[in-house]
Amino acid sequence: MTGPARPTSMRAAVLSADGTLAVENIPVPRPRAGEALIRVESVGVCHTDLHVLKGEVGFPKPCVLGHEVSGTIVELGDDDSEEAGADSGPRLAVGDRVVGGFIMPCTRCEACRAGRDDLCENFFAQNRLKGTLYDGETRLHRADGTPLAMYSMAAMAQYCVSPVSGLAALPEGLPSDTSAILGCAAMTAYGAVSRAAGLQPGQTVAVVATGGVGMGVVQIARALGASRVIAVDVSDDKLALAARLGATDVVNSLDADPVAAVRALTGGRGVDVAFEALGRPQTFEQASRMLADGGALVAIGIAAGAATAAIEITPLVRRSQRIIGSYGARTRVDLPSVVELARQGGFDLEQAVTRRYRLHEAADAFDDLAAGRILGRAIIVMD
Ligand SMILES: [Zn+2]
Ligand SMILES: [Zn+2]
Repeated sequence: MTGPARPTSMRAAVLSADGTLAVENIPVPRPRAGEALIRVESVGVCHTDLHVLKGEVGFPKPCVLGHEVSGTIVELGDDDSEEAGADSGPRLAVGDRVVGGFIMPCTRCEACRAGRDDLCENFFAQNRLKGTLYDGETRLHRADGTPLAMYSMAAMAQYCVSPVSGLAALPEGLPSDTSAILGCAAMTAYGAVSRAAGLQPGQTVAVVATGGVGMGVVQIARALGASRVIAVDVSDDKLALAARLGATDVVNSLDADPVAAVRALTGGRGVDVAFEALGRPQTFEQASRMLADGGALVAIGIAAGAATAAIEITPLVRRSQRIIGSYGARTRVDLPSVVELARQGGFDLEQAVTRRYRLHEAADAFDDLAAGRILGRAIIVMD
């Protein structure tokens, strides 16, 4: 099924083996069964892409990054509806506006069949390790035939291919550009708040490190009824944005001991849930000491290498506290949920996105992200 105006070549930001990021002309990919070709409207600029770019996360190169995307379906792969199960993804058509989640569930592995898209075995084994989709092949090549690895759907390009299982329809009223961040920043935050923490209305929350995902946690915790949301960061500018997005209190951890400050703000009790969004031992340990009795530390920041944190055992046991890891979310269920939350006004996309770049400025966007010059989330808007 082919829509109108499908060009043969496109511009893509290609990360070469030597670590340089440059726009190249490459062939437009073709979707296979169960996949969609998307004309990219915009793509988010995420720290995880930056980790790959800096070589801190191993990934094959040359490759195309970009793993939260918004755009329009222009082509669908050959129909495989007889083979596909009922939960193989949403029913979508050419011309539909969509967002793509960074975890693209294969729908067939044991984890996916159990609804645990966040643990999809093929996503990790094929996409994250090899840069391919689930038949073991990439959809992207240079004009000379060199394969280009795909980080998720590889959306830093004018077109990308994603399994339909990783997509959700974008309703009227949500913008085509800023909605891209629903696919990683917002979906990851939603998974942490709704799934991992199981946040209940009236509970108190601390968010340690308010980058793209932490800022999403602030918004979603408020939207889901948290009575207090205490944002902790080292940047007054980020804390000011967190306050605009729903934080009831802010703590600059350069000015005050964040554990003492959070305890003081909660009458000595501590918080029901502390989200750690940085992945550093010091902040992980701090978050663990902010907890109320029965509280939960939800870890969402990926650490460098094999970092470890020291947690005092006895309080954890005596106070029945929990430490929970949370990676992404269950795309097929949670991405539509977070889209709906945004449609209802529970996630302010316009305030969350604080910078816009063009594709040829992709390298500048990552420089700015690395230097801490991006307050909320940045997006690259396609030409
Ligand atoms: Zn991301
Ligand atoms: Zn799977």
